[in-house]
Amino acid sequence: LADDKTTSCPHEMATLSSPEGFHEDPELARVPILTDLHLSELIGSGKYGHVWRCTYLGREMACKVWLSFEMNAWRSERAIFSQETTYHPNIVRYIHSGFIEENNQLELVTKGVLLMELCSRGSLCNFLEMNTLSWEVASRFSFEIASGISYLHSHTGLARADKGYSAVAKCPIAHRDIKSSNVLIRGNMSCCVSDLGLAIALNPNHTEESFANAGQVGTPFYMAPEALTAKINLKNLDSFKQMDVFSLGLVLWEIFCRCEIENGPSLCLEHKIPFSDLVQGSLLDKSRLNRTQLIHQLKDLHPDILLIDCYLCQMSGRTHNLLSRARITILDCTYKEPEARITAGTVTSRFEQNMPNARHSEHDRSFCDSIDFGSFASM
Ligand code: ADP
Ligand code: MG
Ligand code: MG
Repeated sequence: LADDKTTSCPHEMATLSSPEGFHEDPELARVPILTDLHLSELIGSGKYGHVWRCTYLGREMACKVWLSFEMNAWRSERAIFSQETTYHPNIVRYIHSGFIEENNQLELVTKGVLLMELCSRGSLCNFLEMNTLSWEVASRFSFEIASGISYLHSHTGLARADKGYSAVAKCPIAHRDIKSSNVLIRGNMSCCVSDLGLAIALNPNHTEESFANAGQVGTPFYMAPEALTAKINLKNLDSFKQMDVFSLGLVLWEIFCRCEIENGPSLCLEHKIPFSDLVQGSLLDKSRLNRTQLIHQLKDLHPDILLIDCYLCQMSGRTHNLLSRARITILDCTYKEPEARITAGTVTSRFEQNMPNARHSEHDRSFCDSIDFGSFASM
C-alpha cells in the first residue's frame, strides 16, 4: 500500500506541469510565457509535437509546440536556433521561443514553443507529392538546400551587427536529420532547411566520448551506410558532415525524379521516399516496423553506390544532358565511403554554375530586405 502512494501512472508522467530541472535551471527561469500567442491551424506533426500557423503580437508566423514531457527536445532545438549565427537565407528564420500554458484536465501544463517564419508552401516532401519541377526550379531548390547545409557546416557565419550583418567565426553544426520533410518552401518558392532538433555543434574541444552516442540518429531511410551499420568514425568530426551530405544526395534524388525537362523526355516518376519501396511489406506494414527493424532491413540492402546508381537509372532512363549532370552530383554525395563524398559547399557551387543568374550574395540581400523581423531582433 505504501508503494502505491509513491508510484505515479504513465499518464501523470505525461502531464507533468513542471518539467524536470525547470525550477533549478536559471536560464529556463528567464524564458517568457507567451501570452499574446494565438494558434490557428495545425500545419504539421512530428515525433515530439505539432506545428501550428499562429499569430504572435499580431503577426502571422509558425509555432512548433512540444509535448510537455519532451522539454529536452525543445531545449536542444532552441539552443541551436537561438545562436545568433543560426541565420541564413536557406535556414528557416527563427523568431522567438518561450512557454505556453494549457489547461489539461484541471492541470496547468507548461509546453515549450518555438516561433519561426511561416513557410506557406509547406515541406518539400509534400510539395513533391503534388508538383513536378522544371529544371530551373529543381536546380535552384538543390542549390538553396545545399547552401543552407553548407552554412551550418561552415566555420564562418553571419551575425547581426549595427548595420546589417557581418561575418563572424562560428562552430560548425551537423544537422543529422536531412530529409525532404525537413526542408520548407516559402511563398516566394525559396527553400530553407528546418527542424534543427537533432543538430549538434561540432566543437573540436569536445572529446570523442562526448560524441559516442551521437551517431545512429535521424531517419533510417536517409541514413548513410556507416550510420546504419554503426561504423561512424567518431575521431573525425567531418564524419557528421559526410553523413549530412549522403542524406542531401537522397533529397536531390527525390527532387530530380520529379523534374520535367522542356523538350526532354516527359516521364516523371511518382514522388517517393528513398528506399521506401525496397523495404519488405506493404506500406501499411512499413509504418508498423519499428526503428530497429527498419535499420536492420536497410542495412541489409546495403544502400551503397551500386544500388543508388541503379535507382538513378530510372531517372537517367530519360537520358538528358542536364539530368546526367544532376545524377553525377547525386552519386558524388552518396558514395559508400564517407571520405569519397563531396562537401555541401561543392554541391552548392555545382548548382550555382547551372544558374548564372542566381548569385548567392544577391540572394542574401533580397532575403534580408524581404523579411523584416526587425522588431523581434532583441528577442
Ligand atoms: P519534427 O521535429 O517533429 O519533425 P518539424 O520541425 O520537422 O517537426 O515540423 C513538422 C512538419 O511541420 C514539417 O515537415 C512541415 O510540414 C511543417 N512545418 C514545420 N515548420 C514549418 C514552418 N515554419 N512553416 C510551415 N510548415 C512548417
Ligand atoms: Mg521534422
Ligand atoms: Mg525533428
